[in-house]
Amino acid sequence: MTELDKLAERNQRKVIRAFQKHHVSDFHFAGSTGYGYNDRGREVLDLVYADVFEAEAALVRPHFASGTHTIACALFGSLRPGDELLYITGQPYDTLRKVVGQEGDGAGSLRDFSIGYREVELLPDGGIDWEGVEAAIGPRTRVIGIQRSRGYDWRSSFDVAAIAEMTARVKRIKPDVLVFVDNCYGEFTEEREPTACGVDLMAGSLIKNPGGGLAPSGGYICGRADLVEQAAYRLTAPGIGGEVGAMLDTLRATFQGLFLAPHFVGQALKGAVLAAAMFSAAGFESRPAWDAPRTDLIQAVRMDNEAQLIAFVQGIQRAAAVDAHVVPEPWAMPGYAHPVIMAAGTFIQGGSLELSADAPIREPYIAYMQGGLTYAHVKFGLLTAFSRLHESGLIVIKPHTT
Ligand SMILES: *Cc1c(COP(=O)(O)O)cnc(C)c1O
Repeated sequence: MTELDKLAERNQRKVIRAFQKHHVSDFHFAGSTGYGYNDRGREVLDLVYADVFEAEAALVRPHFASGTHTIACALFGSLRPGDELLYITGQPYDTLRKVVGQEGDGAGSLRDFSIGYREVELLPDGGIDWEGVEAAIGPRTRVIGIQRSRGYDWRSSFDVAAIAEMTARVKRIKPDVLVFVDNCYGEFTEEREPTACGVDLMAGSLIKNPGGGLAPSGGYICGRADLVEQAAYRLTAPGIGGEVGAMLDTLRATFQGLFLAPHFVGQALKGAVLAAAMFSAAGFESRPAWDAPRTDLIQAVRMDNEAQLIAFVQGIQRAAAVDAHVVPEPWAMPGYAHPVIMAAGTFIQGGSLELSADAPIREPYIAYMQGGLTYAHVKFGLLTAFSRLHESGLIVIKPHTT
């Protein structure tokens, strides 16, 4: 726990230094309307993000509707017809399947624009299949995709050191490839981010870690300046890019959220460690283990059956400050292949730096829990979930005997 406190302190210092360097002032929070020309707050927000993530440039906007939209802009910005995208960390996050064109033809996916897509499955031990990657990289390969977080998968997440190594290695195989990292859930869980370690382009969601629970919507893209600019042309229009886009009333919350993010991420990480410890004491396998190093917010727990999965998620909802009186049920969420049940009693709709839990209803029955703006809330949520499982007769809690 003291290690997590140190992490939060160092990241807090890094964020404050970036604010100071760019002289963040009250007037930056005002927000523009209409076209949003010369919005100095927006420009400074981009500069602050670029510094914090040690990137050449950043594009931080409330106009990104979700993480998927942000990642799609980054990919469409960097790829051209005839190019190929190669994911080396196995299947990407569920909602990206329709973006790359693995599913749902005709919707304007990369594939509809003659941009190829391939992926190399991870090895059974969770590592990168380098033989497979070497064989898959070809003359068309333009972008290498890496997903840092486990997402809704029972695999390990990749820490920044591992991503730095992957980046160096793919560039040895083909020096002109670009490396893109889906950084969702990773921000501030380590002291450095992938863009500080050779990655060309990176994207994430503001309703996850870097929004600090306050940013009302949006995403960020950062990395090489030319690639960030190409992504901005996708978000708005070619020739316009990041120079328009009214920030309306979002700037104060987005700045303040970034300021608070290192602390809240630290609280969420402490909560995840507690969850892993409680579940393993109750006989469930959890990943990562409580004492393993972390590189994202997600705590995965393997349940025995659908009933346990649903009861757990419903138990987390019961501990929320918002919407605790509603009972979540599985539903067919847009972009997901299986019904998903979600506990999201949050101030920001779907905000998952706030305590939340999701589970696709499919085997193996894995619940994914993440977030928690305060450690006390996570603790309360876990106790509520355990008592729901216990009351429903779904788990037996044995008295401790050693
Ligand atoms: C959340 C997430 C996404 C997509 O973000 P949405 O806001 O749900 O569209 C993509 N990749 C990973 C790893 C994520 O965790």
